[in-house]
Amino acid sequence: MNANLQWQTTVTAPEQTEELAAKIGQALKGGEVIELVSDLGGGKTTFVRGLVRGLGSPDKVASPTFTISKVYKAPPHQVYHFDFYRLDEPGLMAEDVAEAVEDPNTVVIVEWADVVQHVLPAMRLTVRFEPMPGAHERRLVFACPEQLAYIIEAAKY
Ligand code: ADP
Ligand code: MG
Repeated sequence: MNANLQWQTTVTAPEQTEELAAKIGQALKGGEVIELVSDLGGGKTTFVRGLVRGLGSPDKVASPTFTISKVYKAPPHQVYHFDFYRLDEPGLMAEDVAEAVEDPNTVVIVEWADVVQHVLPAMRLTVRFEPMPGAHERRLVFACPEQLAYIIEAAKY
């Protein structure tokens, strides 16, 4: 299965990244896996904050860098937020990711997913945050298989 759908957009403020992610959150059905790719400060956690809000969760989203994973309640869903920054080896966390991926009510979002690539399904959305000349400007590049087209459609409108 290929990530054969691609779409990209440019945002010019953190609020815009959050809004875009909130629209995506509203469209999620549960069971989606989203990989966020950027350098530090690219806007990954900002995106998660919007997405969790869009899913209707009042939970506070912070960078899980020191705890690796966080769970946000968004009945009937929940969001598992993993951040493997500076982790060379995922250890048991890889099993946690694999388990979360299997749960149809769980939305899985992963920052710095390199060390858990082997447990990430091909059926996932990847969002790449690319730096732009403006300090608050980012290019967001979305890629996913056809089956996840509804996520990109939600981001567009
Ligand atoms: P990451 O999780 O990728 O390390 P964060 O979301 O934690 O990034 O931080 C992004 C930082 O960049 C925040 O301080 C945010 O305010 C700032 N920022 C500036 N412009 C944007 C933008 N367009 N989208 C997201 N964050 C932005
Ligand atoms: Mg982060």
